[in-house]
Amino acid sequence: MKVKCPKCKELFEIDKNRYDEGDSVECSECGVSSIVVVKKGKMLLEPEENKYDDIDEEYFGEDYERD
Ligand SMILES: [Zn+2]
Repeated sequence: MKVKCPKCKELFEIDKNRYDEGDSVECSECGVSSIVVVKKGKMLLEPEENKYDDIDEEYFGEDYERD
């Protein structure tokens, strides 16, 4: 199935059997990651930054000890 990159507008093919709604797809043209959205049986790509990025701050702030 052909999808359009929201960043560079390039059309590229993704395997609809391999991807599902909410999956991240990397554009083969510009390399930007987009989110797969399914509307009326069609797959679309939306910019990843539209999604709220639930980053666990504790993970990044964690002070790990080394031996
Ligand atoms: Zn692109």
